[in-house]
Amino acid sequence: MMPPCDSPHSLFFLATMDVGRATRAYEALKSLLFLYVVSRYALKSQRHLRARGVLASVREFYRWITQQVLLLVLRLPKMKAKVALEMGQAKLDIENRLVPKGPDVTRHLSLPKEGKSLEWILAEMDKMDDEMSHATNWRQGKISGAVYHGGEDLERVIVAAYAKYAVSNPLHPDVFPAVRKMEAEIVAQTLQLYNGPNGAGTMTSGGTESIIMSVKTHRDWARAVKGIAEPEMIIPSSAHAAFDKGAAYLKIKVHTIPVDSYTRKVDIKAVKRAINANTIMLVGSTVNFPDGNQDDIEALGKLAVKYKLGLHVDSCLGSFIIPYLEKTGLSEGSNGKYKLYPCDFRVPGVTAISCDTHKYGFSPKGTSVIMYRDAELRRHQYYVSPDWAGGVYASPSLSGSRPGALLAGTWAAMQYMGSDGYLESCRSIVTCARTIADRIVSSIPELYILGSPPASLIAFGSKHPKVDVLEVGDKMSQRGWHLNALSNPPAVHIACTRLTVGKEEEFIADLKDSIREAKLQPSGQGTMVRVYGLGKSSAVGPAMVTQLASAYVDAMYKA
Ligand SMILES: *Cc1c(COP(=O)(O)O)cnc(C)c1O
Repeated sequence: MMPPCDSPHSLFFLATMDVGRATRAYEALKSLLFLYVVSRYALKSQRHLRARGVLASVREFYRWITQQVLLLVLRLPKMKAKVALEMGQAKLDIENRLVPKGPDVTRHLSLPKEGKSLEWILAEMDKMDDEMSHATNWRQGKISGAVYHGGEDLERVIVAAYAKYAVSNPLHPDVFPAVRKMEAEIVAQTLQLYNGPNGAGTMTSGGTESIIMSVKTHRDWARAVKGIAEPEMIIPSSAHAAFDKGAAYLKIKVHTIPVDSYTRKVDIKAVKRAINANTIMLVGSTVNFPDGNQDDIEALGKLAVKYKLGLHVDSCLGSFIIPYLEKTGLSEGSNGKYKLYPCDFRVPGVTAISCDTHKYGFSPKGTSVIMYRDAELRRHQYYVSPDWAGGVYASPSLSGSRPGALLAGTWAAMQYMGSDGYLESCRSIVTCARTIADRIVSSIPELYILGSPPASLIAFGSKHPKVDVLEVGDKMSQRGWHLNALSNPPAVHIACTRLTVGKEEEFIADLKDSIREAKLQPSGQGTMVRVYGLGKSSAVGPAMVTQLASAYVDAMYKA
């Protein structure tokens, strides 16, 4: 007998059998792959639906469809021309507000051939300051946030420190040892304020960088420890835009959870529903930028512990106010309002806190601190390139070279103020905010205060059908006040600072006048009404606002 394989017959049989088996295996693999893809999408959609709710998802989808249709309509030649005309006009308006024009304006468009003197430079700066005569004069104090101290004494201290370290760079600690030490001490002092004895942190260029670094840290931590490759994060709708910006840069899916319309705190049940196996972190603010309210950090902390997630507490605005509220006694609030709830590292589950030294720390702009519960977590923030052609490269945050002068200015401001200084500024600034809030509640029936803001920022909306609060905001602008407009609900906020202390009665008087005028002669033409109205006017509103906002950024670079 011959072995079967030697027979051409059986060989053929074997070959066809193999092809058949291979085909079947291939088909099986294909269906498996198909099932995998389908189940992945099903899982993704199910998580999305769970996080947003069916109704909101349907609404989201409907809004998207109408938007697409309208955008198509706007592409029709006739519509296109009309939109282009309107946009062109709006862009011109923006430019005229930002860029000085006229025969007296000198434009420095190329380098002077020969270097100029210091006197010339200072004189040119004065001229540029005067070119925009309608610019807000912050020294009058009628401004929300923006300038947090403005005292000449502190300015001198900061400038002296800056001068001493003008050329320093913390990227080279061996060359600038004092700057390294100052940065480490700023972080240590801030950690102490936020009750993180075992914590660790770094300085950054501002709140936005602190937040972006924290998002990156939690993303890399979740990948290393939990193997999460498609990260998602859950943020309150009142969280700062820096979280969305970070998520956009770092490719992280964001679930935005609404806040309770009365308390202005994030809906904890909805946060819980949005948590899934891909969640890397939760976010809470103390206090938030839109209306100055505080999320329930303790409840968020419980969720973070239970599901082993990160929890970032944004205290960029709370900065050096929140840690001192307790000591002033103002944290208990008054009349059952304005109470401060626990929000620092004493709350279990909190893994990171951002605190802007350049807000109520009164340090020079361009500084903030990002803190973590422990040094191990901070490791995930670093960037290390072991085999770069330029040598082993390691840096703590986004920048490479950094301004040591700003760190020195921050260290100087903090030592100059001291605990007593911050305590006193906390007392006077928060008292200013509460006075304004109380006076609105007791004497302006048309308005209401959003939530129960415990710190320095308060927002007011209208409960009167004839009073558009954005119109009120525009009338306040005409009275020299530089306030912020909010959408959803429409409201106006003021972040009190050292400069607004003592201006409470003037603010209330101007507010009453503005309301009277807004009722009698609404113009509908002010910036707040136009820009914020546009965003809600139609399905394409947001697309238009995006275009306008981009035109605004363009205009900033017009020499
Ligand atoms: C100001 C602020 C930030 C960050 O802002 P920067 O302008 O980047 O310093 C983040 N969160 C809140 C609540 C803020 O008020």
